[in-house]
Amino acid sequence: MEILFLGTAASEGWPGIFCECPCCTKARLLKGKDIRTRSSVLIDGIYKVDFPPDTNWQANKYGINLAEVEHLFVTHSHNDHYYPTELSFRAKPFAHIGQGKTLSIYGSEVVKNITTQALGVHEKASDISFQIIKPFVEFTAGKMTILPLIADHDPNEICFNYIFSYEGHNVLYGHDTGWYPEDTWRVLGEYKFNLVILDCTNGQIDEERYHLGIKGVIKMKNKLKEMGCMGTKCNCIATHFSHNGGLLQAELENILNPEGIEVAYDGKIVVI
Ligand SMILES: [Zn+2]
Ligand SMILES: [Zn+2]
Ligand SMILES: [Zn+2]
Repeated sequence: MEILFLGTAASEGWPGIFCECPCCTKARLLKGKDIRTRSSVLIDGIYKVDFPPDTNWQANKYGINLAEVEHLFVTHSHNDHYYPTELSFRAKPFAHIGQGKTLSIYGSEVVKNITTQALGVHEKASDISFQIIKPFVEFTAGKMTILPLIADHDPNEICFNYIFSYEGHNVLYGHDTGWYPEDTWRVLGEYKFNLVILDCTNGQIDEERYHLGIKGVIKMKNKLKEMGCMGTKCNCIATHFSHNGGLLQAELENILNPEGIEVAYDGKIVVI
C-alpha cells in the first residue's frame, strides 16, 4: 500500500488563512514542510480519505488525476474535511471523464445529505454514488476492507475514523478524534497494525477532547503497543496540525521522533 499525505493541517490551514500569530508568520518564512493544507490522504491512487477545499490545489501539486479516484471515505461533515460543492464539477461540462469511471462515496447520513444538496441538478451526471455506513459495520470498496470506528470529535454528528485492510496490511486512520471511546478501543484490540495515523491538532496544548496533542498521541501510541496492536515494523505517524499547537515541523520532530512517532507533512509518502 502506498499512502500519500495530501494535506496535514487543521481547519484553517497553516498558515491560517488570515492569521498573524508567530507560528503562521514563521511558517510563511520557512515554507517547505511548514506550509500545510487541509488534511487528506490518497491510498494507491484510487482510495481517498476526505475531500477538503484544498483538493484541486493538492491534485495539481502532486500530479493526481482525480477522475482516477474510485472510492472516497469521509470522516465527518466539517468543511475542512469535506467540501462537496467541488464534487458537482465532476459532471459535464465541467469535467470530461472516460466512460465507466465512477466515484463511490462512503460516510454518515449527515454527509450524504450535504452531498445531495451540493450536487443539486448535477447529481446524475456526476456519476457519484453514496453509501451510508454504520459504526463498526465492515464493508468493502474495491480490494479494500474497511471498518468504520467511532471517534470523539463532534457530539452533534457521527464522526468516523477508519481501519483500512488490504493485502494483509492494516492501517488505522485516526483523526479527527480525542481519546477513543471504550467501544472503539475494544475493536482496536482485535487488530495488528502496519501503520497508525494519529491526531496531533493541539500540539503542546494538553487537551484530549475532540482532538489530541503531543501528550495524547504518545499516550495513544503506547496504549496501542501495550495492547499488542503494533507489530515491530508498525509506523506511527502524527498528522492534522494546528498553528495554535505552537510547534513547527522541526520542533514536532524533536519531540515525537525519539518516541518512535513520525511527523507528517504535505507530500509525505509511506509505503507499507
Ligand atoms: Zn479536522
Ligand atoms: Zn496562526
Ligand atoms: Zn472536524
